[in-house]
Amino acid sequence: MGWAGPGVEDERRKRRQRAKEAVREADRAEAHAWSLRMEGFGGPAQPSPTIGQCLNGGYGWLEVKCHRCETSASIPLEHVRRPRDTLLWKLESSFRCRSCGTRRYKPPVHMIKLTEQREITPYVWAHPNDER
Ligand SMILES: [Zn+2]
Repeated sequence: MGWAGPGVEDERRKRRQRAKEAVREADRAEAHAWSLRMEGFGGPAQPSPTIGQCLNGGYGWLEVKCHRCETSASIPLEHVRRPRDTLLWKLESSFRCRSCGTRRYKPPVHMIKLTEQREITPYVWAHPNDER
């Protein structure tokens, strides 16, 4: 019958929980390291963690900046309409500055760092999917 007593079931649950926490710690470490590299050295952006790894690790906001008009913004990764396994560096080319952009040309933005909370207003950016 293989009846597992409550103690065994409990032990399994704890083990699963620990495994999940280990993954979260690893995701967090990777997101943090990437963020430090971007902020401190301006890149390279590759390799980078995925959207899912950042979210899982507690870094839900991507700060970007337009080098043309110096406007910064925090982008909520949760609301980025991309698969969760999309690598962060692949996002950079899809964000454009709406602040100094015109109808015909919107300058690309640069990724600055990851943050755990929103630090800057997020509504200045044109998302490519919004324009179709
Ligand atoms: Zn700009």
